[in-house]
Amino acid sequence: MVLAELGGSISRAIQQMSNATIIDEKALNDCLNEITRALLQSDVQFKLVRDMQTNIKKIVNLDDLAAGHNKRKIIQQKGKPSVVMFVGLQGSGKTTTCTKYAYYHQKKGWKPALVCADTFRAGAFDQLKQNATKAKIPFYGSYMESDPVKISVEGVERFKKENCDLIIVDTSGRHKQEVALFEEMRQVAEATKPDLVIFVMDSSIGQAAFDQAQAFKQSVAVGAVIVTKMDGHAKGGGALSAVAATKSPVIFIGTGEHMDEFEVFDVKPFVSRLLG
Ligand code: GDP
Repeated sequence: MVLAELGGSISRAIQQMSNATIIDEKALNDCLNEITRALLQSDVQFKLVRDMQTNIKKIVNLDDLAAGHNKRKIIQQKGKPSVVMFVGLQGSGKTTTCTKYAYYHQKKGWKPALVCADTFRAGAFDQLKQNATKAKIPFYGSYMESDPVKISVEGVERFKKENCDLIIVDTSGRHKQEVALFEEMRQVAEATKPDLVIFVMDSSIGQAAFDQAQAFKQSVAVGAVIVTKMDGHAKGGGALSAVAATKSPVIFIGTGEHMDEFEVFDVKPFVSRLLG
């Protein structure tokens, strides 16, 4: 089997699984069997393929999946207010991605709004304000208030009153995983009750992705992943670890610094890039 065919078979298998509404044991096994067949036909060592299958099954907690990993939980409805909270380490591209996400949905007829609950990084509010103004998206934040919980609650309440249907809360990042950061995130989530928590990760973090994503997932109910800086050299393999750790799909990728350099995640080019 040539490489392009292999890529095609694997991406078909993953696509099939991602099309299933409920990802259960059967969907996972079907997907793994397809991938195994494709790898063996490409002369990949039998032991490697068998180990891969065992490892994936170990990572994916089938007890959780048995309860039905229903992807409908991440579908928001236009016209009905929903709160989306963004989390990730400082520098991952979180603030940039919040605006991209808002801008993308605005073009599709949504009424988004941005709330800056990042009181930790100096300049975070200015950055969000600048981006939001450029995209003509209403925003909320404060130069004086240092309590992220208070700001996020005020912002969410205000935009609910203004009938915004996609209220995006940007939270603080830190340089590394820290107890204080996770506690703050937990409090913001408890106060704003987000319909969706999106974990933003830099495509270049590589092997660190699993632990990082898992640490976030342990504090807040991450429901989706966005991988940034896919315009760089990194292949983005860490995204697979983040998916395994959070049991959540990658929904978008960032492909540049500009507002419209943002794409719906597509399995096929992603897999080609991993194999290429
Ligand atoms: P935050 O600390 O997580 O909020 O990160 P920022 O949103 O401030 O982004 C950090 C840097 O990464 C900024 O210089 C952004 O312009 C840049 N950035 C964000 N997303 C992308 C992307 O998809 N591609 C590239 N090339 N740069 C990005």
